[in-house]
Amino acid sequence: MEFATFAGYAREAEDATADHAIREHVTGLLRAAGPDLPVAARYVQGRVFPAHDSTKLDVGPALCYAAIAKAAGRNVDADDVEARVAEVGDVGEAAASYDFGAQQGLAAFTGGSGEEAGGDPLTVAGVDADLSELAAAEGAGSENTKRDVLFGLFNRAGPDEARYLGRLVLGEMRIGVGRGTVRDAVAEAFDVPVEAVERALQVTNDHGEVAVVARESGAAGLADLGLEVGRPVDAMLAQAGSVSEALGDWGSAAVEWKYDGARVQVHYDGEDVAVFSRNTEDVTDPLPEVVEFVERALDAPAILDGEVVAVADDGSPLPFQEILRRFRRKHDVAQAREDVAVEFHAFDCLHAGVSESSSDSGAGETESRSGEDLLDAPLTERHECLRAVLSDSVQGAVADRTISDDPEEIEAVEAAALDAGHEGIMLKNPEAVYTPGRRGKNWRKRKPDVETLDLVVTGAEWGEGRRATLLGTFLLAARSEAGSTDDGFETIGKVATGITDEKLEALTDLLEPHVRSQDGADLDIDPAVVFEVGYEEIQPSPTYSSGYALRFPRFLGVRDDKDPADADSVERVERLADRQ
Ligand code: AMP
Repeated sequence: MEFATFAGYAREAEDATADHAIREHVTGLLRAAGPDLPVAARYVQGRVFPAHDSTKLDVGPALCYAAIAKAAGRNVDADDVEARVAEVGDVGEAAASYDFGAQQGLAAFTGGSGEEAGGDPLTVAGVDADLSELAAAEGAGSENTKRDVLFGLFNRAGPDEARYLGRLVLGEMRIGVGRGTVRDAVAEAFDVPVEAVERALQVTNDHGEVAVVARESGAAGLADLGLEVGRPVDAMLAQAGSVSEALGDWGSAAVEWKYDGARVQVHYDGEDVAVFSRNTEDVTDPLPEVVEFVERALDAPAILDGEVVAVADDGSPLPFQEILRRFRRKHDVAQAREDVAVEFHAFDCLHAGVSESSSDSGAGETESRSGEDLLDAPLTERHECLRAVLSDSVQGAVADRTISDDPEEIEAVEAAALDAGHEGIMLKNPEAVYTPGRRGKNWRKRKPDVETLDLVVTGAEWGEGRRATLLGTFLLAARSEAGSTDDGFETIGKVATGITDEKLEALTDLLEPHVRSQDGADLDIDPAVVFEVGYEEIQPSPTYSSGYALRFPRFLGVRDDKDPADADSVERVERLADRQ
């Protein structure tokens, strides 16, 4: 396909306003692309390389403007191009405004350095070959090589070609075509279900490959696509959520620490290790600790999901910026490692391979495709696989997982995570499959308490069994500015979680002198002691006299510094409820 034809489709998509019209132009492009289908499917999204490929063009505006200036002729320099970009607001528009055609002879004269030198029209394949050459240039002189390759391309570009070339090179395609448009267009162009395309994209992260398979082998071919060790998939993401929502939806939740670090996906093909960041960038070299971990931990190919955390000498997590600094470190990694150590915590297993010793001669399958993809297995099974693939010596690196339906137990996990300096907890649906790139409800990061309330204790209940001599549940009340009840306090809920036995003893001692009356295990208590209480939500409720109830209330501490008269009022509760 000529690059001008590609540019024509891009132009039509850009000029269209309705989503379906944009999709139709992309569909037309994909149908017409022939052997250039994989490249066209990427370029139309402004991607030069597949999403799983961390190769970068590494062309900044200055270099691009210099190449455009050179192609534009003797009277134009990079500053002029920059000024024009500022004036028209876009590199594509600026590039299109120069009359590169006049310079056509120059490319032949200078030889150009790229595939596309000469007077023939630019082709999609030729542009792609040149951009690959450009991306491969490194070391001394690479800037010149890059500029020459770009010059060779711009020099032969008509206005529309220049427009989309400039934008493509700077990663600013902006024609309203994203991942979803291409997915839908592939489905339409080759008559396959959208869901099949979506799934294939999730496992391959490669629009080009998926488009070709859809065209050549249809839905069955797409269904056959699987994970490939060495090729990162998008990470499954979490929504903010609460314990009560999670337990309400699933009955019980898998609870894990939310480590305060950065996400990584670790690929081991039986020989080499590759570590990818959340945006699928290759961060293997800056993280030798993870490579060493894999060497100790795995004896068969696998893909693991987890978090790397920068740690201080005493093992406590360091601020998030420290791990980012390690990610970016290209030189003196050994020194960086001495300054800040990194720990890897694995929490998922996406692929478990077969070790060489246990696999037969690998009939038909390549090494990286043998073994089992686990994306469609429930979380509990993936976690078992994770434990099974890791050697005994590294089991401590597996994220602890508690499956629980008990808010108190979940609270204890959260307290331990916070005590260890981490962010809190993740709540995961034990039955859920792994959905790459999705921020669904099956993984929830527990929302931190936004506001706390200072509430007066007006009642309590004795505990049971082992705790029969301790107060176990506390009735809480807000101050009533309107003063509708005798003592001026309106009940709002009970708190029983977040309190250790030790604290219960102290609270029992603190409250006993204020007991007004007792009825069975229930005590009436004079307003005297103020608790700071966290909660997930305030709900209207007929159960309590304030008209509100707290969801998942948790004891945070005694406010020794506050009298009941300083406690939060029902009016404040009302305002907080309205703001939710
Ligand atoms: P956030 O970045 O706030 O959206 O939270 C989600 C992120 O928490 C994930 O992308 C991971 O990097 C991180 N995380 C830490 N611990 C876990 C865990 N046990 N399970 C899943 N994600 C975790």
